[in-house]
Amino acid sequence: MFENLADRLGGVFDRLTRQGALTEADVQTAMREVRTALLEADVSLPVARDFVKAVERKATGQAVTKSVTPGQQVVKIVHDEMVQVLAGDSDPGPLKIDSPPAPILMVGLQGGGKTTTTAKLAKRLKEREGKKVLMASLDTNRPAAMEQLAILGQQIGVDTLPIVPGEDPVAIARRAKTQASLGGYDVYMLDTAGRLHIDEVLIQQAADVRDVVRPRETLLVVDGLTGQVAVEVAKEFDDKIGVSGVVLTRMDGDGRGGAALSMRAVTGKPIRFVGLGEKLDALETFDPERVAGRILG
Ligand code: GDP
Repeated sequence: MFENLADRLGGVFDRLTRQGALTEADVQTAMREVRTALLEADVSLPVARDFVKAVERKATGQAVTKSVTPGQQVVKIVHDEMVQVLAGDSDPGPLKIDSPPAPILMVGLQGGGKTTTTAKLAKRLKEREGKKVLMASLDTNRPAAMEQLAILGQQIGVDTLPIVPGEDPVAIARRAKTQASLGGYDVYMLDTAGRLHIDEVLIQQAADVRDVVRPRETLLVVDGLTGQVAVEVAKEFDDKIGVSGVVLTRMDGDGRGGAALSMRAVTGKPIRFVGLGEKLDALETFDPERVAGRILG
């Protein structure tokens, strides 16, 4: 995760910390390099610009240039600013799933990792929080996707709603809701249909399901490798359906980091989890401190 960005920033900070005394011009040069590194990692331009401005403002004060270890001070300011950008202004707190049966709507484009993430999160809720979880696939266009969720359910020991051929997504959602109430489930997760692009049908379907179950959480699952595109997708889903949180997948690859750094600042939505591989355990809670640590080494 973030190897390239971490390397680039590491180079800039090495030079800074080796330099001893720092002038404001030194800080500005370093910040220009930081800005370039962020843009190359596909961080959105306004986020990169604001980030560098904020660091520059804090780092050109007396305290830094007169400090005995000015380079380290700058690195600390960058770290703190990065945590701030990743975390936003407020902590989203735990998932809002305490009144059973709590519906979680999983949305996203096809191939983003939605079905896998549904199973990963179900497994986590079961194992770490002792929740009784029901999963249902609403992807009526792709019987294979419905089957895939059933197979994943068997692997992790989580129930899936039996598949009834010919049923439409809203009817499946209603049946899941009823089954979740009757079966004493704590949570039911609805894996909505994905498509290659955001289109009217996809949005309408998700909106209809949303209106029927009134989800406690609507989690957008999006491929973290797609950088700014992931952020655009999140904006659009949020505008059209309303999203409560984001899961960034494929962060095990050499994700350039842009999606993680821009998501909160651009969309206002918290990243809840990151996907770190194909295995069903490979889901981590998003922790701004840890992510900033990985980026800054
Ligand atoms: P969906 O169409 O959005 O439901 O996508 P799937 O859940 O079927 O995932 C598509 C592919 O991405 C599968 O091969 C998954 O194993 C893989 N995948 C999902 N999440 C991750 C992740 O965090 N890391 C990696 N490396 N692969 C993932």
